[in-house]
Amino acid sequence: MISPSYIALYQWIDGHKLAGDGRTYSTVLNPADGSVLGNMPHATEDDLHAALMSTERGFKVWRAVPAWERAAVIERAVAWLRERRDQLETLLTLEVGKPLAEARMEIGLTLDSMTWCAEEAKRIYGRTLEPRIPHGRAVVSHEPIGPVAAFAPWNVPALLTGRKIAAALAAGCSMVIKPSEETPATCLLIAEAFAEAGLPAGVLNVVLGDPDLISRTLLASKIIRKVSFTGPEHVGRQLAKLAAENITPITMELGGHAPVIVCDDADIETAVATSVPNKFFNAGASCIAPTRFYVQDRVFDQFVAEFVKSTQAIKLGDGFDPETRMGPLANARRLAAMEHLITDAVTRGAKIETGGHRVAGKGFFWAPTVLTNVPEDAEIMNSEPFGPVATISRFSELEEAIERANRLPFGLGAYAFTRSLARAHLLSDRIESGMVGINTYYFGMPEGPFGGVKQSGYGSENGIEGISAYLVTKFVHMV
Ligand code: NAD
Repeated sequence: MISPSYIALYQWIDGHKLAGDGRTYSTVLNPADGSVLGNMPHATEDDLHAALMSTERGFKVWRAVPAWERAAVIERAVAWLRERRDQLETLLTLEVGKPLAEARMEIGLTLDSMTWCAEEAKRIYGRTLEPRIPHGRAVVSHEPIGPVAAFAPWNVPALLTGRKIAAALAAGCSMVIKPSEETPATCLLIAEAFAEAGLPAGVLNVVLGDPDLISRTLLASKIIRKVSFTGPEHVGRQLAKLAAENITPITMELGGHAPVIVCDDADIETAVATSVPNKFFNAGASCIAPTRFYVQDRVFDQFVAEFVKSTQAIKLGDGFDPETRMGPLANARRLAAMEHLITDAVTRGAKIETGGHRVAGKGFFWAPTVLTNVPEDAEIMNSEPFGPVATISRFSELEEAIERANRLPFGLGAYAFTRSLARAHLLSDRIESGMVGINTYYFGMPEGPFGGVKQSGYGSENGIEGISAYLVTKFVHMV
């Protein structure tokens, strides 16, 4: 039986809802009990070509719309979504399993980010240079790069579709976006908000279905001038190769393996109180989730004891239960990954301080897990766990901790806890990461650039960098 709170799914192409008509379907599941939420129609090759043509036409229309009008459309879409916050939050909890409080937070961040993009549309400034010839003009301007193909993942599906769409539209681009096949609903609601706000047909198209067919078809087209991708590293590599064929620039956020250095001068109570909820937020499926805790000798035992105690107090359950602090994993793949990573770590000598097992019953539940004594060559210390598992290791000298933090080819989020200003400066300078939080895990503000270094990807979302990603620079010299 299909859930009554869910929405009917469709392709949104050129202002039309397309479904049925011989398209193949797959199911969207509720991770809390494995039930079917809805049936998702897959885009056919004809759908994808129609979406490309529509996005091309949409660009011609939208690029001519003045920035203040673009901003007004985005603001109207945000207002429409704000009136439907309850529905958006419900859809997020249904599809991802996250507790309603976390869904509420995600929708808040999504609306903030979209609002900020609308405001920033008005501040895409060029500059004037001194001409070399009297009465000449030398002008630098920024223009929208063109039609964009965007791909969003399942873990934070409203925020990661909302901010991609709003930033591209703010810059004057059109977009065809593919949300994850596991979480398509909030993206469709966001597209509906834009239609209600008066966005011309074709400026935003949403396609659903087979990710490989969609990305190959869209990226092979010369209509697409920019790609934005958030998701797994192996897919990022594949899309980067496809984009290279047409020299199409791509912004990529591929996840990380965030180290947390806890120094012996840190306020341990605060460090634990902020670390545990951030570790188990979204059942650990966050690209900036803390994953490798390195704790200095003198405070190691205290940190582990308090961390484990606080982890054991996390109430697992259905996201709609107000008592729930952690929901299920979003899909069965994550359960298999937890099983594999934890078995591998234990085989190599790791100690399970708490959790370490699937929770019996319906749904994809995994007990919040803390591991100590994990050797650095265990798989969990080298590939992103993307689940509710914390590893806690001991260090003596800060240099050693910095080296271990920087050991991996990833660099998205990184954190440190210390009360020493000198250590805070040293750590923020030396950690190789796109974002560093000292005594905080918060990178949610839309004005702060969000992106990684090394194999965590390139380019940023949010911040003026996030808007610039959708712009090209033109220099005009008149004599
Ligand atoms: P997976 O390998 O099963 O990939 C599935 C995801 O990638 C889906 O969202 C799918 O739509 C997309 N995808 C797959 N092939 C694609 C293609 N050819 N073109 C476009 N999109 C394609 O991985 P998973 O189980 O969903 O996640 C596993 C890992 O992915 C995690 O461990 C994590 O490292 C990473 N991840 C990162 C983020 C992030 O925010 N950076 C989000 C989700 C997942």
